Amino acid sequence: MGVRLIIMGPPGVGKGTQGELLAERFGIPRLSTGDMIRAALSAGTPLGERVRVYYEAGDLVPDDVVLGLIAEAFDGPETAGGFLLDGFPRTVAQADGLGELLAARRIELDAVLSLEAPEQELVERISGRRVCEACGLVTHVRAVGDDAPCPACGCSLIQRSDDLAETVRNRLSVYREQTEPLLAYYARSGTGLTAVDGLGTKEAIRDRLLDALRRAETAA
Ligand code: ADP
Repeated sequence: MGVRLIIMGPPGVGKGTQGELLAERFGIPRLSTGDMIRAALSAGTPLGERVRVYYEAGDLVPDDVVLGLIAEAFDGPETAGGFLLDGFPRTVAQADGLGELLAARRIELDAVLSLEAPEQELVERISGRRVCEACGLVTHVRAVGDDAPCPACGCSLIQRSDDLAETVRNRLSVYREQTEPLLAYYARSGTGLTAVDGLGTKEAIRDRLLDALRRAETAA
């Protein structure tokens, strides 16, 4: 039986990094709406062009767009053995839409994990984040220094267009207003919500998430 998870948390908390570690561990795909949107933007698809203004301002793209992306993934073969949702849902409407998609397919969630960190740390993590244009590596100026090449492939590291300071502040307030209410939403749901401290090393956080998952499974 595969694992079916949501990983939630504010921008910069490390959902992507941890989501990848968990997905690898369980052999399930990580469905990141942020990555899907970035792929559409860089390929210049009509969907990408439709969402560019929202993305670059740090606003949420319309609910129907992300629900469509997720519905498509659920109808493909790759999610049959489980999945990890990263960065979705982000609004109550998306959570309701997800509930309908799951019910129609008779799928139940195993856990909703919420990764937490203080706002000061989030701003610092996001503003120092750099990504490799060529190989996709995600790193931080703390690790590689300013203007350094990619430590994995030697190509240039760039800042994500939505990681610029003004946009980061908007993303955090969008999170507080639109996404944070989902913590109570899932805490009240049958699946429940498991909060995990997002401060520490990558490995320490991964182990905490794995523990939390075991607790969630025993409680279910
Ligand atoms: P982060 O969690 O660090 O903000 P993501 O890659 O998850 O990074 O999201 C980046 C941007 O992509 C968001 O600011 C938003 O514009 C868009 N996006 C991603 N997922 C969603 C979603 N579920 N609903 C609406 N917009 C989304």
